[in-house]
Amino acid sequence: MSSTVDLTGRVILVTGASRGIGYAVALAAARAGADIIITGRTLGALEELDDAITADGGHGTIVEHDLRDTPALPRLAAAIHERWGRLDGLVANAGMLGVLTPLSHLEPEVWDDTIAVNLTAQWHLIKAMEPLLVAAPAARAVLVSSGAASGSYPFWGAYAVSKAGLEAMGRVWAGETEQTNLRINMINPGGTATSMRAAAFPGEDPQTLPTPDAIAPAFLQLLSADCTDHGQLFKARDMLGL
Ligand code: NAP
Repeated sequence: MSSTVDLTGRVILVTGASRGIGYAVALAAARAGADIIITGRTLGALEELDDAITADGGHGTIVEHDLRDTPALPRLAAAIHERWGRLDGLVANAGMLGVLTPLSHLEPEVWDDTIAVNLTAQWHLIKAMEPLLVAAPAARAVLVSSGAASGSYPFWGAYAVSKAGLEAMGRVWAGETEQTNLRINMINPGGTATSMRAAAFPGEDPQTLPTPDAIAPAFLQLLSADCTDHGQLFKARDMLGL
């Protein structure tokens, strides 16, 4: 895959674009020419991103949305259909850490919330967006996973389980869409300097980690029409040699 990615004219939806990895990926994709739909709950942060996209000559569309509001997703898909008739890229990035504690200590509300955001809402997203993705000539979907999905991560209970489920869902979805123009892959960003990482590792010096801007190019490669991989799990650091 090439290191310079041209996304000119591609309509790409990035969830969790208000900060961290989603913010950096949305900005980088807009700089590469994509028409970006940015979602999250924090309107002010999405407006800041939209200003940054506009300042770079790009075009963004803000959608204030809590992923737990799943009935809003078909409405969003209908609005995208009306305006563009297709979706060329989906970055299912939004996620939450929950609480790091032994499984038996987790509060049921934390379990439910983490699974709802990191897994169930992702299924609703896929369900709502698939017709738009399949309608595009070469759509690419990127599901954002974590090393916790497959490694041994004691205390990361609901988060680890949700990401393992997300990866399984990605493989199922890829198998089902083999005969379409849609290519679906998963990415493990690896430890990246964001607020989620700081919450998980409070004693860590963020300067020792790649920034979201540094790993964003890996996402762009997977969003490119040139990406022919399907149903694979990539590590951003390996893709970029970080
Ligand atoms: P972050 O800085 O905490 O950002 C999370 C994003 O998700 C925010 O934009 C947040 O927006 C959005 N979000 C959270 N709950 C939401 C909800 N209920 N509805 C809508 N949006 C919601 O996290 P990050 O580190 O950038 O993580 C991005 C992705 O990478 C996640 O899937 C994470 O699991 C994964 N990941 C991160 C690392 C790392 O080291 N950072 C490592 C492995 C995997 P609002 O708060 O505005 O809604």
